Amino acid sequence: MSEQSKVTVIYDERVLAHEPDTDAAFLPGRMDKRVRQILSGLGVPWKYPEHPGRLTAIKALLDEQPVPGLQFETGRAATEEELQRVHTATFIEGIYELRGQNAWLDVDTTAVSPGSIEAAEVAAGSAIKAVEAVVSGRTESAFALVRPPGHHAEPVRARGFCLFNNVAVAAAHAQAVLGCERVLIVDWDAHHGNGTQDIFWADPDVMFFDIHRGAPFYPGSGGLEDVGAGLGEGTTVNVPMPAGAGDTAYIKALNDILVPAAEWFKPDLILVSAGFDPHWYDLALNVSYEGFGAMTGILQSLARKHCNGRLAFVLEGGYNLESLAHGVRAVLDVLAGGEPPEPGVCGVREVEIATEFHRDAFIRAAEDFDEPTDNH
Ligand SMILES: [Zn+2]
Repeated sequence: MSEQSKVTVIYDERVLAHEPDTDAAFLPGRMDKRVRQILSGLGVPWKYPEHPGRLTAIKALLDEQPVPGLQFETGRAATEEELQRVHTATFIEGIYELRGQNAWLDVDTTAVSPGSIEAAEVAAGSAIKAVEAVVSGRTESAFALVRPPGHHAEPVRARGFCLFNNVAVAAAHAQAVLGCERVLIVDWDAHHGNGTQDIFWADPDVMFFDIHRGAPFYPGSGGLEDVGAGLGEGTTVNVPMPAGAGDTAYIKALNDILVPAAEWFKPDLILVSAGFDPHWYDLALNVSYEGFGAMTGILQSLARKHCNGRLAFVLEGGYNLESLAHGVRAVLDVLAGGEPPEPGVCGVREVEIATEFHRDAFIRAAEDFDEPTDNH
């Protein structure tokens, strides 16, 4: 398509103030040892992997290689009332009490620094702002570039770098305030969005579709048979992947499972928990930049078909700074009107080029076959 779509990017520097210090005391004794084991298992240098440099790397790339048509806005802090739609009051009070402190929350590597609570409020509020932007119609799509991420945060528990569940807060706000009746949340982060699943497990009006690397990969949830319960039975859809799965599998899952699921569910808003750790630089899966772009194209088509184009992305994980920044840019490029790429199988194009290069090298001239010599 040639016409340019309007894309709003929410970027607020207050989320940079979340910078847990790994030199600060962990939990005591064996728990401390366990946390350090988990961190070292992530295969990244010894520092808190979910650090402010993730967002500044994205911003630096977008400044250096701008995507035409993007409009930047700052975020806002989510209110206690907005957070209470998906978290209990006691959990929120417990997080608020950590304001201004360094602390470790649990063995799943979640820690806070003095600026973290405001950062988490702004992350959730920025996700709300992204949804408000698309529902109001002032932009077709939006991307909230936020941290800490949210999809592991459960109603009563911070987990896996996440304090408040940003995408869930945004979905609940869309329903409570903006008049959306059915919200589809697509989570393509490498890790299962256990918190989002938990929050909407019995909710028939929020469909949660999650493609992720399956157990025992962190957090270990998201089995095929986990489809929701009660009134929400059938509106949770999990697609666990083996290690190394890439573009072809991801695109097939979206086309063969998500597209008919959306047809059945008929959402009026699509939210995306967009993690970029499925990129092979993060060593868990094998999705490419073209793969992220192609998936964005599928979601954009679904949004245009079912929800008047309303499509809002919320950043989740992605720890290699290069693939994180380029992955985000690949998504924004398609949202802004770029042609969705058609990724092939990695290496096949190079083999075709090499085949052409070597084509004549091993073919004997015709006379070598037709006229064998007699001199031996
Ligand atoms: Zn992740």
